[in-house]
Amino acid sequence: MKHTLHNHAIVIGGSMAGLLAARVLSDHFNRVTILERDTVSPEPESRKGQPQTQHLHGLLATGLQVMTRYFPDLPKALLDGGAMMGDFAGVMNWYSYGGYRKQFEMGVNATTMSRPLLESLVRARVVALPNVTLMDNTAVKQLLTTPDRNQVTGVEVEARGNGQTTQLLANLVVDVSGRGSRSPQWLEALGFEAPPTSEVKVDVGYATRTYRRNPADPRGKTWTLITPEAPKETRFGGMFPIEGDRWIVSLGGWAGDHAPTDPEGFLAFARSLPAPDIYETICRAEPLSDITPFRFPLSLRRHYEKLTRFPKGYLVLGDAISSFNPTYGQGMTSAALQTRELEKLLAKNTPLENLAITFFKQASKVIDIPWQLAVGEDFRFPATTGPKPAGTDLINRYVEKVHRATLHDEVVGMAFLKVMNLMAPPPSLFHPRILWRVLRAKPTNPQPSFKSVESVAGD
Ligand SMILES: Cc1cc2nc3c(=O)[nH]c(=O)nc-3n(C[C@H](O)[C@H](O)[C@H](O)COP(=O)(O)OP(=O)(O)OC[C@H]3O[C@@H](n4cnc5c(N)ncnc54)[C@H](O)[C@@H]3O)c2cc1C
Repeated sequence: MKHTLHNHAIVIGGSMAGLLAARVLSDHFNRVTILERDTVSPEPESRKGQPQTQHLHGLLATGLQVMTRYFPDLPKALLDGGAMMGDFAGVMNWYSYGGYRKQFEMGVNATTMSRPLLESLVRARVVALPNVTLMDNTAVKQLLTTPDRNQVTGVEVEARGNGQTTQLLANLVVDVSGRGSRSPQWLEALGFEAPPTSEVKVDVGYATRTYRRNPADPRGKTWTLITPEAPKETRFGGMFPIEGDRWIVSLGGWAGDHAPTDPEGFLAFARSLPAPDIYETICRAEPLSDITPFRFPLSLRRHYEKLTRFPKGYLVLGDAISSFNPTYGQGMTSAALQTRELEKLLAKNTPLENLAITFFKQASKVIDIPWQLAVGEDFRFPATTGPKPAGTDLINRYVEKVHRATLHDEVVGMAFLKVMNLMAPPPSLFHPRILWRVLRAKPTNPQPSFKSVESVAGD
């Protein structure tokens, strides 16, 4: 098939979803311009417009696979930059439901690093593309359209600093400006309907601190997650080794049970978790940062797929469509999978006029799975409110047994981790082979903490 090359695409937002979208668009447009409101440093750095990047960010295996497809040298660059890489099921020291999930080799790589490191490596590769330009300190103020308002033709931007406004024209504008996206308001101003939304209130709070890590200590490469047996427990903790011989430690909870941001309160919260691993490390470790909070009141989904009218030449992608409770670590992978759908449509030469409606339908199928997984788990807590998918309680009763079975059964563990990593659909947990093992599972058998990690690459 002859490949159509369009002229110019604009991407609003230079965070992870914007960078991945720009990478895909660069194959189909002569020029791609990323517009980012913040100042962007080439170094790993959290910016004002993405405060969440100061907190623990795990990249699911599927996200790493999609990113590696776009940037084949990314795993090596991560290792060179000090990230850890290892087999997902082999390295994760994950306490849940009264024990540690059984560790085994699943043949799937996972990586831990700071989110700013990952983003800086992706960004360096995107801006190195000859037809991609990143304009920072540039805030998009409004959309430009044809006189009948049916087609977006570009954007009006304001330069930070001097406040000067400029108009930039494009054949396609993609809004990847995150959860705070102005697309609903911009659409209404143009006479279109804003998308209907789903909101699931979870009242999750994070508090995060980094510590000095001794990589020579056998525990220095352990990736620890402690997640609650809901609803009787509400607290979680994550402690991952990251570049610069640091630990990143995020503590928090559901339903308003948030970790304090004073040092004593933070330590006491770590001590209150159902497994000692995080507390035992951080009570002796040297803190390297202040404690930073982040409040996540609700998961938000904007149903663009339900709109019947939408301006031509315009798309929305990433957190701007859907932002889930971050404790499940799905946001970047969801953005990567949405980008794959965009790539498939462009590869089929889908005309730009028809792109939005088809893209939103495909993106919605991608988002359905992490949304169901996140929202389903969140409804274990009675304080969670919002649209509850039919059958959630029944499914949760079964998945609770799955969680318990993962403590000693690696076949169930493999099935669970594949679903969690968005590698297999949730119904695969109900396959007769898994169902049988789950239903005959033995009661919880707590195991010792801090199992040694032998399979971590990147020494
Ligand atoms: C506490 C927390 C922890 C998380 N942990 C994980 C995790 O473990 N794993 C995971 O995969 N995901 C995680 N996420 C989600 C992840 O951070 C996002 O899914 C990811 O950043 C992709 O978002 P995005 O690029 O769509 O939007 P964002 O990251 O929000 O970026 C939007 C960008 O648009 C820019 N912008 C906004 N408005 C304008 C404008 N008008 N003009 C120009 N630029 C603009 C902003 O400055 C920003 O750079 C977490 C989220 C939170 C809140």
